[in-house]
Amino acid sequence: MTALPPGSAIGVLGGGQLGRMMALAAARLGYRVHVFTPEADSPAAQVSAAATVARWDDLGALDAFAEQVDAVTLEFENVPVSAVERLAEKVPVRPGAKVLAVAQDRLREKTVARELGVPVAPFEPVTSDTDLADAIAAIGAPAVLKTRREGYDGKGQRMIRKAADAAAAFDELGRPAAILESFVEFTSEISVIAARGVDGEVRCYPAVENRHRNHILSLTIAPSPGPSAASKLAEEATRALIEALDVVGLLAVEFFVTPEEGVLFNEMAPRPHNSGHWTIEACRVSQFEQQVRATAGLPLGAPGFHHRAVMRNLIGDDAKDWARLAAGDVSLHLYGKAEVRPGRKMGHVTKLYAPDRPAWPPKDTELP
Ligand code: AMP
Repeated sequence: MTALPPGSAIGVLGGGQLGRMMALAAARLGYRVHVFTPEADSPAAQVSAAATVARWDDLGALDAFAEQVDAVTLEFENVPVSAVERLAEKVPVRPGAKVLAVAQDRLREKTVARELGVPVAPFEPVTSDTDLADAIAAIGAPAVLKTRREGYDGKGQRMIRKAADAAAAFDELGRPAAILESFVEFTSEISVIAARGVDGEVRCYPAVENRHRNHILSLTIAPSPGPSAASKLAEEATRALIEALDVVGLLAVEFFVTPEEGVLFNEMAPRPHNSGHWTIEACRVSQFEQQVRATAGLPLGAPGFHHRAVMRNLIGDDAKDWARLAAGDVSLHLYGKAEVRPGRKMGHVTKLYAPDRPAWPPKDTELP
């Protein structure tokens, strides 16, 4: 296929900060971004050439959007598969419905990983009290009960410390279709972002370590300072997944690192990922540009890094410190969100370090 020429319109499904940073990368390559989102004044629409504000089930709006763009990508993995299928009748959608349907469902994504030989913590599907009792008998406690759909940042999950607590946890979640998985005593959490082009070429950023606060990503340390054996396993698993799922675009995969320096698949998303923001400053081609390249049918860029980096999220009130952060030795990103809410991702900062620095990770006093 020939690449979309500059001036072409790229449609982006979703209007959040990931779409905003993707739109900025697309603009640099001469493309016009048209956002489709149900949200008015979204972070992505603020920096895009056009925006359609409509519901995902508004077929008229979807059809009109499809007429106005040359290719479509997404920044939000819970776009209804039916909307993607509707668009795909008129315009290439990258990534497509196949990976989306898998990544939207914790049971399906873990099943796919296991079938590919990617290690996963023991898990069982739960739809009823009987299933739950069977799952607890099979997996034991402690365990984590998670909704199959729409959980993020620790929402939609409950820790079960002993078998007797399971029923109450299921009730608290609203008795949804769920999975029970074994609690993992991990040493760290890492993630890998891979890109796959229209021609099937795969490029992979190095594994990074992610540290959370209150279940929300706080710091990403790039590359991961953890065991290189684990990073290598994670990179290989991500490559296997992006190929098996036929993704054109990005696939971000989160893993637990075990005390034996192995990895266990946790979850994946076929879009740019918060743990890849560091690539904007530290790599020649960022994750956002990589997704634009894949969508437009351009060759992928080299994912190597010219600096090490640490990214820190600005959550809720953290962003009120913008003036001090703007004066510091970090790159400041603010997402244009009018309302500050606790737990809301308002921006991030990235600090660069020499690529050959012997001490890694940086000391606490050197972090952004
Ligand atoms: P998730 O939404 O599945 O990414 O879970 C959010 C966070 O909860 C993860 O990043 C982990 O810190 C923690 N977590 C999730 N599942 C498990 C598990 N099976 N064992 C231990 N910690 C978990």
